[in-house]
Amino acid sequence: MEYQMETLAIHADGTVCAEKTVAPAIHYSAVFKADDSAEFIEMSSVPQHPRNYTRYGNPVHERVKKLVADLEGTETALVTASGMGAIATTILALVKAGDHVIGQTRHYMSTAKMLDDMLQRFGVEVTLVDQTDAAAFERAIRPNTKLIVLETPVNPLLMLTDIEAVTRVARARGILTMADNTFASPINLRPHTLGVDIVVHSATKYLGGHHDMTGGVICCSKALAEDIWHTHITLGSVLSPMDAWLLLRGMRTLPMRIERINANALELAAFLEQQPQIERVYYPGLASHPQHALACRQMKGFGGVVAFGVKGGYAEAERLVSALKVPHNAGNLGGVDSLVIHTAAMWAGTMSAAQMAAADIPVNFIRYSVGIEHIDDLKADLLQALATL
Ligand SMILES: *Cc1c(COP(=O)(O)O)cnc(C)c1O
Repeated sequence: MEYQMETLAIHADGTVCAEKTVAPAIHYSAVFKADDSAEFIEMSSVPQHPRNYTRYGNPVHERVKKLVADLEGTETALVTASGMGAIATTILALVKAGDHVIGQTRHYMSTAKMLDDMLQRFGVEVTLVDQTDAAAFERAIRPNTKLIVLETPVNPLLMLTDIEAVTRVARARGILTMADNTFASPINLRPHTLGVDIVVHSATKYLGGHHDMTGGVICCSKALAEDIWHTHITLGSVLSPMDAWLLLRGMRTLPMRIERINANALELAAFLEQQPQIERVYYPGLASHPQHALACRQMKGFGGVVAFGVKGGYAEAERLVSALKVPHNAGNLGGVDSLVIHTAAMWAGTMSAAQMAAADIPVNFIRYSVGIEHIDDLKADLLQALATL
């Protein structure tokens, strides 16, 4: 029987585990014992064996892997200690010196650092293209192109990538594609169904969903997982059993949370657009978003991140953020609590004003990660904060 996402989120992982508990057990053991040498040999010779050594696998990892793979529609998955663990492990597993990688001009900060800097230090060529121009990916292809890295929607302006347009070209040329699906979550977007080979997540965001754990996942075919796993155990980005358990608990409610978050964010974005103190709102669900048609074609819902500019400058954005009472002022996204951040303030420690301008980070910009609070409270809070401007 094919289950819907809501049912998968509760039951998918139960099938990989013989435990007679309703809630998953946390296997807090660094290593597992064998009855005899024959069993020891079997445990240590099977890749990803869940009862050998926790860096190689753990029963609670096994459950997370099954659940996220089912949600993303891939054959299997690997789990890592963080989203960057997933991204770095995947890229390092797939490319070698002399290969060429295509990425986007906008990525999550540390992914951008990996593409811009680290890969080039290891002799991998990288071309970054404007993700809103689907044909730019094809133009960037070289004979040695091995991998195309996608991320949609992306910070800071919530721009989108036309996944099908890119994967059609990549498949025809035998080039692998990897998509960071953190912002959308599998409830809103399933990149593998649009032709992406490897879907990665920072599970720290929507999958975990409670701002209480750090983790990452790599969803792909069994063949790719086996390749990537060898690099994974070498790099050692191991998801702790406790965080794996928290991730499982978080994912039980993912479909419900995303449903509420989608509705809250769409309503909040439309509400913000009507406020005289607001200059511009960026949200893929709004008709004013330059790629709204693509968003409607590619996504089931538009996610919880809303970006907007306040009329005025740095000081006005700062005043609004500090007047808001419901969202915490914190630099994460994707959880049950709403979070808000003055974007330029978040980057001020690491970027100069000129770098921020070049990266499309206006000083009056605010990122609001909408949670599952009541929408009337979120709107009333915004109104009282806007009144201070
Ligand atoms: C947070 C984030 C990451 C990195 O995840 P960590 O769990 O912090 O390592 C990668 N990609 C996106 C889109 C993110 O938001």
